[in-house]
Amino acid sequence: MSRTPRIGITTYGRNEEGRFTLPAAYVDAIRRAGGMPLLLPPGETRVDEWHDLVDALVLTGGPDVDPALYGGARHPKLTALDRERDALEIGLVRRAVASGKPALCVCRGMQVLDVALGGTLIEHVPDAVGTAVPHRGEIAYGPHHVRIEPGSRLAAVLGVDECAPASSHHQALRRVADGLVVVARAPDGIVEGVEMPAHPFLLGVQWHPEHTAADDPVQQRLFDALVRAARG
Ligand code: MN
Repeated sequence: MSRTPRIGITTYGRNEEGRFTLPAAYVDAIRRAGGMPLLLPPGETRVDEWHDLVDALVLTGGPDVDPALYGGARHPKLTALDRERDALEIGLVRRAVASGKPALCVCRGMQVLDVALGGTLIEHVPDAVGTAVPHRGEIAYGPHHVRIEPGSRLAAVLGVDECAPASSHHQALRRVADGLVVVARAPDGIVEGVEMPAHPFLLGVQWHPEHTAADDPVQQRLFDALVRAARG
């Protein structure tokens, strides 16, 4: 490919002020990697055309996935739900799975990937494992330790088999969908990374690599690898 790889980045849903938003860190990380970011806001129904328009996808962080989509419970601690965003991101990631288009699924994005393929989520992480590991701690985007499976694609991309990345997630994977393999865990056993061995480049991380990527080459490597994969 001679042109710049086009990296579709899903945005957050409409907020109370009627705005689509996105942390700029995702855009910055893709640009540093040499990709051209294209922002994809919820509401688009021509998902096939959008999927065809981009060379790779970033599914971004955000609020909880609607538990109705995986037979889960409406936990009182659920954040605001956004069916419009759920629908777009599930549609996009299913197409990326089918087409072999590279995708990096960050935080909520990893949860969307799992639900899209038939997995389920833990509606409220403290109910399952307590609060010893600060998945969504007092410090916003605080770190916690993650162990990465040696020999996995994720370990190859990061170049390390442990790290302490920025973290802020309310939910986590419960049943991991068929086709996905767990390749990273927190010390309490919570799933922190998945990949699809049958796919050319489909990675999910429960942490926020974009948040520290400007200063942390290990986390930037996720975006570099995505753009490299997008070049084909
Ligand atoms: Mn975590």
